[in-house]
Amino acid sequence: MFERIERVPGDAILGLIEAFKKDTNPQKVDLGVGVYRDDNGNTPVMRAVKEAETRLLKSETTKTYIGSHGAPAYGDAVLPLVLGADSPVLEADRASATQSPGGTGALRLAADFIAKQLPGKGIWVSDPTWPNHHGIFTAAGIELHKYPYVDADNRLDFDGMLAAIKKIPDGDVVVLHACCHNPTGFDLSAEQWQTVLDVVRERNLLPLIDFAYQGFGQGLDEDAYGVRLFAEQLDEVIITSSCSKNFGIYCERTGCLIAVAKDAEQKDNIRSQFAIVARENYSNPPAHGSAIVSEILHDAELSAMWRDELTEMRDRVNTLRRDFVEALKPYGLDKKYACVGEQRGMFSYTGLTPDQVERLRDEFGIYMVRSGRANVAGFSQQNLPYLARAIAVVND
Ligand code: PMP
Repeated sequence: MFERIERVPGDAILGLIEAFKKDTNPQKVDLGVGVYRDDNGNTPVMRAVKEAETRLLKSETTKTYIGSHGAPAYGDAVLPLVLGADSPVLEADRASATQSPGGTGALRLAADFIAKQLPGKGIWVSDPTWPNHHGIFTAAGIELHKYPYVDADNRLDFDGMLAAIKKIPDGDVVVLHACCHNPTGFDLSAEQWQTVLDVVRERNLLPLIDFAYQGFGQGLDEDAYGVRLFAEQLDEVIITSSCSKNFGIYCERTGCLIAVAKDAEQKDNIRSQFAIVARENYSNPPAHGSAIVSEILHDAELSAMWRDELTEMRDRVNTLRRDFVEALKPYGLDKKYACVGEQRGMFSYTGLTPDQVERLRDEFGIYMVRSGRANVAGFSQQNLPYLARAIAVVND
């Protein structure tokens, strides 16, 4: 039977990693992979995480299953982080947390829940979006549709987005990125969130907010603006949160599926369904990452340390964004690439064309995905002059 199985091409990003490794150019720059990098190109373990792990090693007494919803202490820590410490939603007992293997796991749980419990509902994602959204929702058997997000001049196409959302059939699901939109870096303003909320309410849509980069845009609370607005103003919201980026625990697979419902009873009903989809997928989530996160968030000293480190990462990325635009000034290209300074998060739709991306790779050893999406954390004070010169050459 295996004879008929065809080989499929690998992930484009993995191909890029391989090509980068083989490149012998001493000035080569990797702007492809979606992880944070420091100025030396490393993705280090955060100090607060190391300290939490040291404490856990001493205090851990068992490795028994932690249950389909994961560790209660983790859920208790993540809910106020996402919804706000004094959230009226938490006060009203309208939200529940189910631990998941990363944000990806939370999205898959949400997808299975929608496919099973809301049969026939379509799902709408931004064009472009994180490519795995397509894979996850389609794998669950949900019909996928797109709404526009970026215009031909590489700007947020809010009018196009809104016009499309206004036509989404009643009761369908709309996926929104809470902050640090991947791949573009274009986020909604407070006013735009409110406008989308009005349409979501009018069309009776179910918002699914993907929150993979809390703290990487403007701040832990600032980045949660849309999430909190929706949770407080609407009866029903699904949120998928990830600790991969903001705790730097990518490989520990730590995320959370949050249901916000009209009241405590409906919340508990949904929660019981989440346990079933979790059980059917993997039974119980892995324990270590969530133990790290709750150790940090339940301890004032570790929390302060973690917040400082996260601020450092965020400031670094935002400074590099500004410095990138500044480095292009001598070439008269600062206006053309001003968007990089305005976008938020790890990723930027630079506006570089596929041809330019190819030339940057072949002539300069600068690697990014064909769409022109760059990982800003791959910039550094050392490589910015080189990047700027290379971009000037491919713009000639
Ligand atoms: N959503 C988006 C928009 C992402 O960019 C990512 C990670 N690249 C995820 C979800 C999933 O993150 P995790 O690694 O926690 O599964």
